[in-house]
Amino acid sequence: MNTKNVLSVLFVLVAVALSFGAFAEFDTPVIEEWTKTEINDKGDQEDVDYMTIDGIMVHETDPAKQPQPPVVQPGTESTQETPGQAPSDAIVLFDGKDLSNWTSTTPGEATKWLVNDNAMSPVKDSGMIQTKQEFGSCQLHLEFATPKTPEGEGQGRGNSGVFLMGQYEVQILDSYENTTYPDGQAGALYGRKKPLVNASRKPGEWQTYDIIFHRPVFEGDKVVKRATFTVLHNGVLIHDHYELSGGTGWRGSHSITNYVPHGDKGPLQLQDHGNPVLFRNIWVRELED
Ligand code: MG
Repeated sequence: MNTKNVLSVLFVLVAVALSFGAFAEFDTPVIEEWTKTEINDKGDQEDVDYMTIDGIMVHETDPAKQPQPPVVQPGTESTQETPGQAPSDAIVLFDGKDLSNWTSTTPGEATKWLVNDNAMSPVKDSGMIQTKQEFGSCQLHLEFATPKTPEGEGQGRGNSGVFLMGQYEVQILDSYENTTYPDGQAGALYGRKKPLVNASRKPGEWQTYDIIFHRPVFEGDKVVKRATFTVLHNGVLIHDHYELSGGTGWRGSHSITNYVPHGDKGPLQLQDHGNPVLFRNIWVRELED
């Protein structure tokens, strides 16, 4: 074999290895294909290609084989004046009326958060609040407004946060003309990932987070599947199926916590960071992992 042939063989081997590597990344559905000779509408013979994906024919119309998706009544969009409505299959966690779905993060203690004008907010030294129900992978919608009259700078202005599974914080902050370290601004996966863009509204205006979260999976002490976040801030994509490299807990001015194994579900928590951030219209839809 001359050098050129050796190189060609090597090239093919590398290409095959790479393509196997690429396939290994996919959740591969089983795809089968065949061709059948049939008589068409005009009475002529015709070769028709068939294909099934996980045993279901492409463009199958038989509901016994390909059921219609469940019907969901979509919710309504919020305006600055009026909160919208949750979709019909969502679990409503807060609709402006009361805190019956929430409790303090301190065991056995009732929450001190207050409800006023259809919004809830922490009061001085009230501590964090969490849902009574626990969730794993989910779609979460929440709305917040940082104080209308901004006080403080950087991390001290309109700071709160929403914690998925009581662990993973999507930062809430007044990031309108208020700079801080990017991995701690509004929408950041705290300490791990800055948002793609800063889509913040002005202080006092209602803002939305739509979060699609997939929980991490642990085997013993090891994380075998990392958490992923897709997040829209005021309808703008700020995390695009981002794989979280570890925890989001403060561990010092330049370090952040690692993954610590936990259960399949945990409460959703809202942070009391000493700023009276308002919340309204919070709902969740549970997702498959
Ligand atoms: Mg925070």
